[in-house]
Amino acid sequence: MQGFALYPFDPPGDIASLRADLRAWLAVNQPQSDVVARANCWASFDPDFSCALGAAGYVGMTLPARYGGGDRHPLERYVVIEELLAAGAPVGAHWIADRQTAPLILRYGSEEQRERYLPGIARGELYACIGLSEPGAGSDLAAVRTMARETADGWRINGQKIWTTGAHFSHIMLALVRTEEGSERNVGLSQLLIDLDTPGITIRPIIDMAGHHDFNEVFFDDALVPHGALVGEHGQGWKQVTAELGLERSGPERYLSSHALLVALIDTAGPDPAPAIATLIGELTAEMWTLRQLSMSTAAKLAAGEDPMVEASVVKELGNAFEQDMPRRVQAIVTSGWDDEDDLARLLRALLIASPSFSLRGGTREVIRGIIARGLGLR
Ligand SMILES: Cc1cc2nc3c(=O)[nH]c(=O)nc-3n(C[C@H](O)[C@H](O)[C@H](O)COP(=O)(O)OP(=O)(O)OC[C@H]3O[C@@H](n4cnc5c(N)ncnc54)[C@H](O)[C@@H]3O)c2cc1C
Repeated sequence: MQGFALYPFDPPGDIASLRADLRAWLAVNQPQSDVVARANCWASFDPDFSCALGAAGYVGMTLPARYGGGDRHPLERYVVIEELLAAGAPVGAHWIADRQTAPLILRYGSEEQRERYLPGIARGELYACIGLSEPGAGSDLAAVRTMARETADGWRINGQKIWTTGAHFSHIMLALVRTEEGSERNVGLSQLLIDLDTPGITIRPIIDMAGHHDFNEVFFDDALVPHGALVGEHGQGWKQVTAELGLERSGPERYLSSHALLVALIDTAGPDPAPAIATLIGELTAEMWTLRQLSMSTAAKLAAGEDPMVEASVVKELGNAFEQDMPRRVQAIVTSGWDDEDDLARLLRALLIASPSFSLRGGTREVIRGIIARGLGLR
């Protein structure tokens, strides 16, 4: 049976000055965005900020210098991500490209793909989206039906993706598609890097409950992409996607989505909070600290080249529970009304609406618990 293996978080170099430099940079360069935009900041789209961040060397940090990257250690990147999220910086534009598309291209992509895409990602200029979910394949990803048929001219794609965050502003999609006709389940799948301005691709918005346009439906109608769009090995899409999900599940974004609310609660409570509020602040801080240790340990295991599938899933599940419960726990003790316009009330309102989705994105709770149970030998 596998347990939660704890790894020492031991980044090279002077982490204290990396943090201090970034904080000083943010003090000058972070836009004065609204408190609500700061809450779920890894969904906030600000291309100017992404470019400035790229120019300062905080995007593509772990990519090799020959592709425009920073040649930095993954745990240095972790520290930078943690600082950006805690500050509520608008990192949504380049977020997916930096977090998972670039590492995947580096690991599985061809030299041509690396040279073509990685420098733009490292500059904070080239954005990517994740083409996994389909109307009949969300949790059950092996049910993917979007088909790419190999022809003399390239791959001809037909099908539909859904819930594609940021497809409307992204340049590329890394899509899981069926490349072997008649194949079933997790066999016969491959990953394609698709330029989203390819003829035959239609992107339609899905507006969420809060009125935001983050999601899209993406339709492929005989869209033709070159042979060179194949990432990695033909038929190995399942294995590659699993590696991608490991990168997606354990970062600090999995417990910091409601962080702005904790900060607002502390600010509102002032130096002499009521006992119930002081207790809640203490509880939330202690829980966040524990999650931070688990997340850092998972990042260290990933950085050591090992597969932290179970640990990453534990961090995601516990982290999502924490960031989902926080708005409800705060609501239970503060006197803010639903219509109040102070920062705390507006944040609370926004997070009460958004937080149910936290345990869906990146894999739903039930599925994540199934992965943990299997990893622990319980099923
Ligand atoms: C904010 C957000 C952003 C997203 N961004 C993207 C994106 O960029 N790209 C992308 O491809 N997708 C994205 N998604 C989609 C997300 O990955 C899917 O919604 C998710 O995988 C669930 O799939 P589904 O919606 O089809 O639900 P279903 O699979 O239909 O699940 C419905 C319910 O049944 C449960 N269930 C399903 N199977 C089992 C099982 N075997 N055992 C127990 N319970 C089960 C689920 O847990 C869930 O509660 C995003 C979702 C959200 C909320």
